[in-house]
Amino acid sequence: MAEQEADLSKKYDAVIIGSGAAGGMAAHVLTTHGLQVLLLEAGKKLDIEKELRSMQWPYDNAHRGALPPDSHSLSFNEYTIRRPPYGPGFEKSKNLYSYIGNSDYMKNIVVKERENPYTGTNYAWVRARCLGGKTNIWGRLALRLSDYDFKAKDRDGYGENWPISYSDIAPYYDKVDLYLGITGVKENLPYLPDSLFQRPTKLNCAEVTLQQGLKKMGRVLTQYRAGVTTDGLKHNKYRSRCYGRGACERKGGCDIHAAFDSPTGLIYPAMDTGNLTLRTNSTVREISVDPATGKASGVHFTDSQTMKDYTVRGKVVIVAASTLESARLLLLSKSRLYPNGLANSSGHVGHNFCEHVMGPGVAGQAKDLVGKPPTLDDGRPGGFYLARFRNLTEKNPNFIRGYGFEGGSGSSMFPPGTDQPGFGASFKEEIRKNQGSYIGMGAFGEVLARYENYVDLDPVVKDKWGIPALRFHYKFGENEHNMVKDMKETAQEMVEAAGFKIIYVNDRVLTEGWSIHELGTARMGNDPKTSVLNQFQQSHDVKNLFVVDGSAFVNASCQNPTWTIMALCWRSCDYLADQLAKNEL
Ligand SMILES: Cc1cc2nc3c(=O)[nH]c(=O)nc-3n(C[C@H](O)[C@H](O)[C@H](O)COP(=O)(O)OP(=O)(O)OC[C@H]3O[C@@H](n4cnc5c(N)ncnc54)[C@H](O)[C@@H]3O)c2cc1C
Ligand code: SF4
Repeated sequence: MAEQEADLSKKYDAVIIGSGAAGGMAAHVLTTHGLQVLLLEAGKKLDIEKELRSMQWPYDNAHRGALPPDSHSLSFNEYTIRRPPYGPGFEKSKNLYSYIGNSDYMKNIVVKERENPYTGTNYAWVRARCLGGKTNIWGRLALRLSDYDFKAKDRDGYGENWPISYSDIAPYYDKVDLYLGITGVKENLPYLPDSLFQRPTKLNCAEVTLQQGLKKMGRVLTQYRAGVTTDGLKHNKYRSRCYGRGACERKGGCDIHAAFDSPTGLIYPAMDTGNLTLRTNSTVREISVDPATGKASGVHFTDSQTMKDYTVRGKVVIVAASTLESARLLLLSKSRLYPNGLANSSGHVGHNFCEHVMGPGVAGQAKDLVGKPPTLDDGRPGGFYLARFRNLTEKNPNFIRGYGFEGGSGSSMFPPGTDQPGFGASFKEEIRKNQGSYIGMGAFGEVLARYENYVDLDPVVKDKWGIPALRFHYKFGENEHNMVKDMKETAQEMVEAAGFKIIYVNDRVLTEGWSIHELGTARMGNDPKTSVLNQFQQSHDVKNLFVVDGSAFVNASCQNPTWTIMALCWRSCDYLADQLAKNEL
């Protein structure tokens, strides 16, 4: 899709900042309502199929898919020992990337850390600055939240309830399912609501064995609920159905767009309405305010390549730059009227920052699968999801809230065990014999939303565009550490109970940020004193300002957030269009 020149003299109905899951969804919904929309994206529009090259064989890539030698992706130890990540000690690496960036297919998608610094406590902050943001490379696990999450305070007394219930958002989850496509199997679980699924993928032999073992324990293992269209989408000419090519598991997206990404799923169809103008290379540095009305008047942005500054006006401003970038923008938008940053009369912008704690997991081996002929198991967009089971009917004495596991088994192009010592024919035979018999899974748990976990602006450090960097004040707490202990024990117990031999148990807690599910920095609520947004992600202070990404989450739940980000955004944009039509904004 070719971008048309943006007319910056015009006042748009809505200016959207950011083109990921949230910004793309806002563009889709608002253009469908007939609004004239300008979408500003800081990164470039990449020739994404050429970046992803999903079908490239490892031997056809100069470094078997890894980064070139002059580039470096931060390791676990580097996050925990050396900080900040772009500091001294890395002089030999021309390009530094976050931990996820060790891939030739992602090197132009994820940001260069030195150009985009941040400071403060340890945090693995993964960012993608290009059209579509992180959706170009996301892991596709597409889960719904339930009233166990939205009304969690009612269950355990901690934190705040969301100002919505599952029944408010359920119709919008349905719309997202139907518009974007999702694969999975119905399980009728009140704490993990089903979607409107397309054709499911199949569990393989070891996964079914684990599923049966877990059933006896009253726990549910289900097919990976992937934001992938397995049947195809007749209404979208930019996306193919999934051909089970297995490239999903390689680091870097799906080049036929069977897996959802924001450009092909949302932005190109929105451009086809004739109502969307897209401007990439547009780094928004501030949301402008009309001093007479106190309302948002538009944005100031810098062309990311030419460094020239521009201003554009909008009747409504929609912030969708991703949880942490959106908080940064609100804090940057200080004025006489809003000295603490925009939408921040509560002092909660940047606070209540939460996410998922990751790490503990287990690998097991099914002895009866050793030596069996290989099967084509990596031709799927995911393995399995083991749903939350803690603090549903019983109360765990050591922690509140829950965690789930993502995992998989089967034969694949890169079988487990290749990192073990050995060489030559006997080594290859050993790998072939065992491949397909391993099963592994890792946990994702809820990090409690706490006011004292927050981000603010660094007073000194600035990014390449001269914009103050974000400073982190964020740590896992006692609840997370107790939960992690339980994750490790239950992982081992479940895999053993299903009859697998334990190969290793991982009790390492990954660095803060590892889940790439940052949430909560401008939370929703009914009380403007303790929340930033109302239930429609509209600022309590500035009624023509909406923040439609994960910032609005009240708690993190343990389910992956992207499907909820998009359902909430759809609901908010329907409200916005209605209010604008009534001249209420
Ligand atoms: C490797 C990986 C695996 C993941 N797996 C899953 C998963 O399995 N399930 C799941 O639910 N989620 C997953 N996620 C998370 C998921 O990608 C995010 O939740 C989702 O992309 C968030 O959408 P967003 O629009 O808020 O942010 P993004 O997708 O990050 O988009 C934000 C956009 O805003 C732009 N932007 C930022 N600042 C500015 C500015 N100042 N001016 C203009 N534009 C700006 C950025 O360039 C970016 O394009 C994963 C992420 C990664 C990286
Ligand atoms: S398995 Fe499906 S979703 Fe994944 S890369 Fe292949 S076609 Fe795309």
